[in-house]
Amino acid sequence: MQDTLLEVKNLSVDYETDEATFYAVNDISFKLNEGETVGIVGETGAGKTTTALAIMRLLPARTGRITGGEILFKGEDLLKKPENEMRLVRGALISMIFQDPMTSLNPVMTVGKQIYESLEIHNLEHKSKQQLEERVDELLELVGIPARRKNEYPHQFSGGMKQRVVIAIALACEPKLLIADEPTTALDVTIQAQVLEMMHDLKKRFGTAMIMITHDLGVVAETCDNVAIMYAGELIETGRVEDIFEGTLHHPYTKGLFGSIPDLETSANRLHPIDGLMPDPADLPTGCRFHPRCSQCMEICKTTHPKRVSFNGHDIVCHLFTEGGAGK
Ligand code: SF4
Repeated sequence: MQDTLLEVKNLSVDYETDEATFYAVNDISFKLNEGETVGIVGETGAGKTTTALAIMRLLPARTGRITGGEILFKGEDLLKKPENEMRLVRGALISMIFQDPMTSLNPVMTVGKQIYESLEIHNLEHKSKQQLEERVDELLELVGIPARRKNEYPHQFSGGMKQRVVIAIALACEPKLLIADEPTTALDVTIQAQVLEMMHDLKKRFGTAMIMITHDLGVVAETCDNVAIMYAGELIETGRVEDIFEGTLHHPYTKGLFGSIPDLETSANRLHPIDGLMPDPADLPTGCRFHPRCSQCMEICKTTHPKRVSFNGHDIVCHLFTEGGAGK
């Protein structure tokens, strides 16, 4: 049995402004074993990035507030760590790849120097300058960039190559956990597959666990072991990839996500997008948060929050699956 690397327990995060409180993440729990990948899937505004930023303790200082829960990394609660200890965790034990490589890289510093800095900050083994330089070359080659290009600046690289540099920085210290927030969204479709394949290979090579944040179920099918579907700050369905992709029991929102994917084999059929929009996190609906958009909504859904029901580790939060519901 694999060891649990990360356990998020009943995590809640708000953003507090002068105008309103935005309930971004509400009481979510999930586990991630060493070396495994979980895909957190949902539309924009579901709370996926907020979850990642809370794990990294990188929420905006003025507005972001963790209002409850625990984030256990190797059994230790990250929320109880002082900031100076968290600085050692970030980069060395947990790394994050952001959506847009252009905003992650420093435009006035060579790519080699940026990788070098990351190694230097976490140089606990007191490696020499030359050893660190050699490691920079090694990392660049690892992500498919010739080491001779290390003295170039980010603007001299294509989008795909910039994201490769970001991945090299994230993997520099061989972290135990890599959080990838929509790592291919800003890339051309032709480059997306290459970057995903490279990440998959590197993950296998280093045994890194990964949280893959995406709105793309295709990416999840290719890269993940487990899936967590997020809607309006809540995890509404979780399970193994095979349960979600091959099973027949699904939350209506998950069904909607599947209905929104183009299917080349049945191209004659129209897509079935989910009607409506994600609710305002400052003004969430009562009962089930999906009820204003759900085609199977019942009276109880409008007033009572559904309970989590488990089918051998495949969890769904929907009244259709509770006692007397029609979903089973
Ligand atoms: Fe739809 Fe009701 Fe299930 Fe919510 S609880 S997803 S409204 S059927």
